[in-house]
Amino acid sequence: ERIVSGEADMQELSLEQSLRPQNLKQYIGQDKVKENLEIFIEAAKLRQETLDHVLLYGPPGLGKTTLATIIANEMGVNIRTTAGPAIERPGDLAAILTALEPGDVLFIDEIHRLPRSIEEVLYPAMEDFCLDIVIGTGPSARSVRLDLPPFTLVGATTRVGSLSAPLRDRFGVLSRLEYYCEEQLREIVIRTADVFEVDIDSLAAVEIARRSRGTPRIANRLLRRVRDFAQVRGNGAIDHSLAQKALELLQVDRLGLDHIDHKLLKGIIEKFRGGPVGLETIAATIGEESTTIEDVYEPYLLQIGFLQRTPRGRVVTDLVYRHFGMEVPSVERN
Ligand code: ADP
Repeated sequence: ERIVSGEADMQELSLEQSLRPQNLKQYIGQDKVKENLEIFIEAAKLRQETLDHVLLYGPPGLGKTTLATIIANEMGVNIRTTAGPAIERPGDLAAILTALEPGDVLFIDEIHRLPRSIEEVLYPAMEDFCLDIVIGTGPSARSVRLDLPPFTLVGATTRVGSLSAPLRDRFGVLSRLEYYCEEQLREIVIRTADVFEVDIDSLAAVEIARRSRGTPRIANRLLRRVRDFAQVRGNGAIDHSLAQKALELLQVDRLGLDHIDHKLLKGIIEKFRGGPVGLETIAATIGEESTTIEDVYEPYLLQIGFLQRTPRGRVVTDLVYRHFGMEVPSVERN
């Protein structure tokens, strides 16, 4: 398990429940998304209507599930949670939809993994709040239309490109979550420390924030590990030097990169003179799936400008040489 992975591990999921901000005010950052949602929620409430369907997309750990919960809280309705891969047959979806109360939020995580046959059931549900189900088989089969209570579908995905166009078009609100800046992550760390009732100074919080890859989930995870260190090696409180020592021990460098990032970047430098090199070739060299590289390793490296995608493949930038204390090649690279 990578400590800097944006995905939650099993143990973490229940712990994260207690850390989730409950309303838009407590939700730090993502100002544009928040402002839009605030207006749409307010307007829907004024008109006493159901909120339009919302699609949230962006890398794991940025707060999509949290926002879905907040939307339900702000609307004053219940939330039902499921995930794309959990819905296998049209009947599974029908059971969920018919159990909703008017106005409820239905949250479908990993919505891009919904089977096509299910998507088709979802279209009339989203558009007209009804369900077309087929009763019987063979020549006596007939289609029956069932009315559903109006509801808000909140979909979350890390791969908006994999969503079919007809599904994407049925969302009234599309919001992209961005990586968080250091200051916002510092606030999140301080808030979480407060929930944990652990003392942390501001510089220590910055140190954790800086290494969190723009991701609240990673910030909270690093804080938990640093807290362990503080309890065992210190007096429980987290100051700057303790945070630094703990993070060094965790082998997360000052930009939040770990040994896998180092292997990937150094591999491109040492074997391909910095690139360009094709994704498949990189994958073969470091022994990873190309989709894992694309979905998991690469996004943050692209975000901080360490990697560039060119038509001829991936290229490392001068920033990488500097980060590793290597000489920046002066000649034009090919
Ligand atoms: P996603 O669904 O995008 O993978 P989650 O909503 O599960 O991410 O968030 C992961 C963790 O990060 C949660 O425990 C949540 O408490 C925290 N978190 C996410 N966004 C924020 C935020 N804006 N402010 C405070 N905490 C946040």
